[in-house]
Amino acid sequence: MNANPEVLKQHLIDPEICIRCNTCEETCPVDAITHNDDNYVVDASKCNFCMACISPCPTGSIDNWRTVLKPKAYSIDEQFTWDELPAEQELDGAPLLAAALEPIDATDAADDEEALELDASHLADPLSGSQVPPWSASHPYVNLYGHKAPVKATVAGNFRVTALGTDSDTHHVVLDFGTVPFPVLEGQSIGILPPGVDAKGRPHHARQYSIASPRDGERPGYNNLSLTVKRVTSDHDGNPVRGVASNYVCDLRKGDEVRVIGPFGTSFLMPNHPDSNLIMVCTGTGSAPMRAMTERRRRRIDLDEGGRLMLFFGARSQKELPYFGPLMNLPKEFIDINFAFSRDDGRPDGAPKRYVQHLMRERGDDVAALLRDDDTYLYVCGLKGMEAGVLEALEAVCAERSIDWRALHAQMKREGRLHFETY
Ligand SMILES: Cc1cc2nc3c(=O)[nH]c(=O)nc-3n(C[C@H](O)[C@H](O)[C@H](O)COP(=O)(O)OP(=O)(O)OC[C@H]3O[C@@H](n4cnc5c(N)ncnc54)[C@H](O)[C@@H]3O)c2cc1C
Ligand code: SF4
Ligand code: SF4
Repeated sequence: MNANPEVLKQHLIDPEICIRCNTCEETCPVDAITHNDDNYVVDASKCNFCMACISPCPTGSIDNWRTVLKPKAYSIDEQFTWDELPAEQELDGAPLLAAALEPIDATDAADDEEALELDASHLADPLSGSQVPPWSASHPYVNLYGHKAPVKATVAGNFRVTALGTDSDTHHVVLDFGTVPFPVLEGQSIGILPPGVDAKGRPHHARQYSIASPRDGERPGYNNLSLTVKRVTSDHDGNPVRGVASNYVCDLRKGDEVRVIGPFGTSFLMPNHPDSNLIMVCTGTGSAPMRAMTERRRRRIDLDEGGRLMLFFGARSQKELPYFGPLMNLPKEFIDINFAFSRDDGRPDGAPKRYVQHLMRERGDDVAALLRDDDTYLYVCGLKGMEAGVLEALEAVCAERSIDWRALHAQMKREGRLHFETY
């Protein structure tokens, strides 16, 4: 609890480490987090210290606090200008920290009615998915390398995985870490630091990319991993733009050196136990973690560990679907693959637009059979916005078959069996 009412333990984001992934902004139940083109920041007048944003942050940059006099709390406009966090404020030459007594936690905050006007919603879990991994997931290593000491990886390969002549230029890029340890698990991601500076002369911040290969390497036994990167040539409104990191990565040549940070990710991980089923729903480059998980299972196929794999994969057309060829070569008894194409080519003439959520409903009997199994783990990765569509599809699939989705949703979240990663 804040013992001194004039002192505030202000919640701040470290602009040097933050990779601008937006996870915290999506997580915060009271919209205390916002951003501009430069920084992610916390509004001191809104933050109620519920701590919901702390564990989902992949870098730990959100877990920063400064003790300030309330009238001198940093405004969001001030925070937007920061290149680094400020030092602790002082009062008459002494650090203010002494005046604050204990750090605030959620319980303290809830008790501190004078300091904060709270409503009950701040303690509600704002996320649709799990914040914990499957019980049998392996231990993930995270944040082994930060932006001040990135690891140098060498490009071992770079080739396009979408058909030529389409808008979607997506690349499969293999990075080799040589003798530097870089342990990863399927579902984790890394950060790439593009060279150069932004328009304000600041070094470019890192961009996050999901790992597309299994834990034992793109090439088994090698200390390497792969990424699936789409070249960004237009912004979300369709205006032409040259995405800094995606163009850098897509243009890399064999032998180039790349600065890498991470790994990141502690919950979007696959189960390891036999007979566990995976339902994977993805669009575009959201296929990267699904490729990693599928390949992990494929490499262990001879162990006969059981469990079903069901994939729902959406793209505008077959030609824009990364890894279409290799996917088609996987045995049907190994993985149940369902493609949804939202544009004309790849579909019979006149067929309606189809998205992954439509396919999930069409395959509702099989989806429901898996959902009834407590050993089923569901992963969604790809376009922002698909989370709502997938949740609606799951609700409909359940409602049509007398499954209580509300209860099942809560159970799956609690048990680390429902994971979303959208960007
Ligand atoms: C958890 C996580 C995992 C990710 N995994 C992958 C992955 O496996 N493969 C992958 O390709 N990307 C992935 N991304 C997205 C990636 O981190 C970058 O955001 C993306 O490559 C664009 O970076 P950029 O530097 O090229 O564009 P920027 O220079 O950062 O942005 C240029 C402009 O394009 C807009 N923009 C940014 N991204 C997109 C987009 N995807 N579509 C349209 N406009 C955009 C921006 O708003 C900005 O206006 C992931 C993101 C997160 C948070
Ligand atoms: S601690 Fe809670 S209220 Fe504050 S920024 Fe994080 S999620 Fe939002
Ligand atoms: S790295 Fe952490 S602080 Fe930065 S945007 Fe992502 S979740 Fe927020």
